[in-house]
Amino acid sequence: MLKLEQVRRVRDLLADGRLSHRAIALQTGVSRMSVANIAQDQRPLELLYPPEETPKPQRCRQCGGMAVMPCRVCAARQYQRNLLAMRRWASHPPGQNHPPRRPAA
Ligand SMILES: [Zn+2]
Repeated sequence: MLKLEQVRRVRDLLADGRLSHRAIALQTGVSRMSVANIAQDQRPLELLYPPEETPKPQRCRQCGGMAVMPCRVCAARQYQRNLLAMRRWASHPPGQNHPPRRPAA
C-alpha cells in the first residue's frame, strides 16, 4: 500500500509534467504501474484525498442511491440514453422520409 505522501508526490510530479512515468517511479520509489494508475486516478479515494477532503457519499436526487457526486449511475444511464438517441437519429435523420412501413403480414 502506498503512503499518502508518496501518492501526493507522484501527483505533484505528474502535474508538473516534466518527468516521464519511469523517472517519477525511480524518484519516488513507486512502481511504474502505480504511477500510471495514479495518472489515471485509479487509486482509491482515501489515497487521493486527505481524509478531511474525502468526498462524502450523498443521497442522489435522481436515482435515490448513496453516491459521491456526481452520481456515476445516473451519468451512465444518461450516457446510454444519449447513445440510443444518437442511434435513432443515425438510422432516421430528421428531414428525411422514413422508409416505407413493412406491410402487415
Ligand atoms: Zn443517481
